[in-house]
Amino acid sequence: MRPIFRGTAPRRYSHYQDAIGDLEARLGTYCSYCERRLPISLAVEHVSPKSVARHLETSWDNFLLGCTNCNSVKGDTVVNLDDWLWPDRDNTVRAFGYLDGGFVEPTAVSTKHAQRLLDLVGLQRHGATPGREPAPRDKRWKDREQVFTLAQRQKEILSRLPPEVREEALQLVVDAAVGWGFFSCWLTVLHDIPEFCRRLIARMPGTAADCFDASGIPIARPAGRC
Ligand SMILES: [Zn+2]
Repeated sequence: MRPIFRGTAPRRYSHYQDAIGDLEARLGTYCSYCERRLPISLAVEHVSPKSVARHLETSWDNFLLGCTNCNSVKGDTVVNLDDWLWPDRDNTVRAFGYLDGGFVEPTAVSTKHAQRLLDLVGLQRHGATPGREPAPRDKRWKDREQVFTLAQRQKEILSRLPPEVREEALQLVVDAAVGWGFFSCWLTVLHDIPEFCRRLIARMPGTAADCFDASGIPIARPAGRC
């Protein structure tokens, strides 16, 4: 899960819905949880649900971007933020492993809190996992599987290209990643190509730069729990 930095509030909001344009400008049109790129159907997501924390309903620092699936699974569960990892507080890319086939698992980093976040938004719902089958309209796992495969294929092609075209080809792969979303899938598959990782981190709006070293390798987030 991409760690994000939303920055300071661009302005005050009378209605939380008014923040959608500012959030998309800062974070890109990606769901903060499942990482899909959804240019027209994201909603303002409240980390602390507005039904639980009324005073945070229009607070910029309580906003993320959520797709229909992540939003509807999450509901009003969150009471104590410290019980979960969060992409705006922790380096969540260290806490989850993305696997061939569209699977997501917690890593050994902050496993308990990571698992809670996966459960909170139903990110492990998968067509091939008995007991975790998604609703028919929940295609997050399928999209993730497709993009993971696409990233593998592009990496394989990159490895066969002569040096004189590699730079241009690498840029095309970055463009594809930005266009498709699923930051973590691309970073997982192309983790050993530092020039790709650095460019992806720089190109996707709102990626928390302090969560990576100079080679694009994830590091502990300052003041985060992982
Ligand atoms: Zn989502």
